[in-house]
Amino acid sequence: MISKSMEGLVKNSSVIRAMFEEGKRLASIYGEENVYDFSLGNPSVAPPAGVKEALLKVLNGEDDKLIHGYMNNSGYEDVRERIAESINKLFGTSFSQDNIVMTVGAAGGLNVILKSLIDPGDEVVVFAPFFGEYRNYISNFDGKLVVISPDIASFQPNLAELEERLSPKTKAVIVNTPNNPTGVIYSEDTIKKLADILNRKQKEYASSIYLISDEPYRELAYDQAEVPYLTKYYDNTIVGYSFSKSLSLPGERIGYLVIPDEADASEEIKAAANVANRILGFVNAPSLIQRALMHCLDSGVDVEAYNRNRLLLYNSLISYGYSCIKPQGAFYLFIKSLEPDDTAFCNAAKRHNILIVPGTSFGCPGFARIAYCVDYDMITRSLPGFKKLAEEYGLKQ
Ligand code: PLP
Repeated sequence: MISKSMEGLVKNSSVIRAMFEEGKRLASIYGEENVYDFSLGNPSVAPPAGVKEALLKVLNGEDDKLIHGYMNNSGYEDVRERIAESINKLFGTSFSQDNIVMTVGAAGGLNVILKSLIDPGDEVVVFAPFFGEYRNYISNFDGKLVVISPDIASFQPNLAELEERLSPKTKAVIVNTPNNPTGVIYSEDTIKKLADILNRKQKEYASSIYLISDEPYRELAYDQAEVPYLTKYYDNTIVGYSFSKSLSLPGERIGYLVIPDEADASEEIKAAANVANRILGFVNAPSLIQRALMHCLDSGVDVEAYNRNRLLLYNSLISYGYSCIKPQGAFYLFIKSLEPDDTAFCNAAKRHNILIVPGTSFGCPGFARIAYCVDYDMITRSLPGFKKLAEEYGLKQ
């Protein structure tokens, strides 16, 4: 028998992954070119050439003990120093290797920091719509998920509700900008107001409220949009970064946490994160790709390829009558469902071989997410299906 908690989790296992499987099934019936799978955030752009060159450089140049060995649970010191320097150059911060913990992607980093911070019953606040896995990560440590309802006009975080829902039990607030699933970037004004609320509430409760900034999409910003670096606005910020999207390396499982000296109990959190990385079973982030980062950290992803997809899909859907906020970053569109039941709407899309994910998975019913990290040609082929779907619901053309 498996545990009761896992029984529940298996039953409710990710809708997104189920869609991905459904895509494979439909492709076997209709042919791959006639199925339009927009369900998963798997980057369609190849890793920059610099990544392969870096891997070869490592394999040809360094000794096996260094490349493939165990290390400090927080990661190689020189890699962490190189990352700190890169962040400092970009954002005018002053981090050192001591502030960096290498992690198994953003998912590993979030689990490490939640394990480090959360006692059972502590509250962790998220803003709807949010990456559905946060539910599981928080429940892994018996934290209590507190969901702030969405501001569907702007999809900026609903700060008025946040202010009401913070409590002496609030241990952390998670933000994700550029955002999955909306593509919205939280503005500097929003961040300043958020920091102001958190500072006031910390004082009122004589507590520490950590702002966890989940940033896998930091570099995916369009039209020169600025993505504020949150440690500069709020001392108790902890950044979780990932190379899954910025270098198109989701399978390599590599990212890092930034734990600033300014954060309350910074030394204790760094020590806790180091141990959490080990005892959660990660031990350390994968060694080979860590070493490669020494040589390819600044290789940029081809943002223009995603931008082309964004503009084609956004402009087409708007012309068919769909409603959607124009995404400024990441690679998702969050369209309004054409009927109140977003699952029924996604099933209707499936009848046109279009796979999209109900907003309910992101704590935001009445919407659906389209991941446009796909081939441009696939988007082109899918457009007649989106048009027919709109016509079925009586949208004006
Ligand atoms: N956070 C958000 C908002 C994501 O969208 C994802 C992946 O899609 C992750 C975290 C996990 O990323 P990683 O592959 O780095 O674990």
